[in-house]
Amino acid sequence: MTTIRQNIHDVRERIASTARDCARSPEEVLLLAVSKTQPVTAIEKAILAGQRAFGENYVQEGVEKIHHFARNLTLEWHFIGRLQSNKSRLVAEHFAWCHTVDNLKIAQRLNKQRPVNMSALNVLIQINISNESNKSGIPLHELRQLAENICTLPRLRLRGLMVIPAVENDYQRQLENFKEIKQIFLELKRNYFQMDTLSLGMSADMVAAIHAGSTLLRIGSAIFGTRDYRRFCKKSIDIK
Ligand SMILES: *Cc1c(COP(=O)(O)O)cnc(C)c1O
Repeated sequence: MTTIRQNIHDVRERIASTARDCARSPEEVLLLAVSKTQPVTAIEKAILAGQRAFGENYVQEGVEKIHHFARNLTLEWHFIGRLQSNKSRLVAEHFAWCHTVDNLKIAQRLNKQRPVNMSALNVLIQINISNESNKSGIPLHELRQLAENICTLPRLRLRGLMVIPAVENDYQRQLENFKEIKQIFLELKRNYFQMDTLSLGMSADMVAAIHAGSTLLRIGSAIFGTRDYRRFCKKSIDIK
């Protein structure tokens, strides 16, 4: 059972070779292992393979895992799921990063709820580039105002942008979409020098994302294999 180790090795190789192809340094691209629905035994294997940053989508599940690994201070936990305001406190109290801030109200709650003994919460603004009404993320025309407001909140640190583009299988179109996002990022960064993170790219489009300038890849299935939501659901019921 060395698959997870092997997968992490392969993904890292892919990041390195793709970065070389576009004259970037592999160290510019953080590998976030998306461990949603995965048991702690799978996360343990990833840790043994040298993985440190993990992404979770469901607040309760993520918090349970953070508690499980609380003694390992080298780990960094990112919340990457849709954030409901009644769950914001758990995110503020447990995670190092939140990728899915898309309105001022949730930002203000996270700011108020971030414990004083923790460092400021790193946040990314999620933008909705394809303007699909069923997707979360802020519309482009509201981006500047939200960035300005977040910068007045002392317990949050605006680090950049996150985007989940509509599924696109054609490489050239993936690349075009991603490059458009990179331009938006660069424009905003002119006013916010501290912004250093562009969270872009998943298992199926990581090569295009690196070419377009992603600094953080959110990789789930290429590391852990296909997600088994059935086992996940059963496990959640058992816990109750
Ligand atoms: C599940 C998920 C991922 C990982 O997707 P894979 O295709 O398995 O790599 C990345 N980002 C977000 C927001 C996700 O929900």
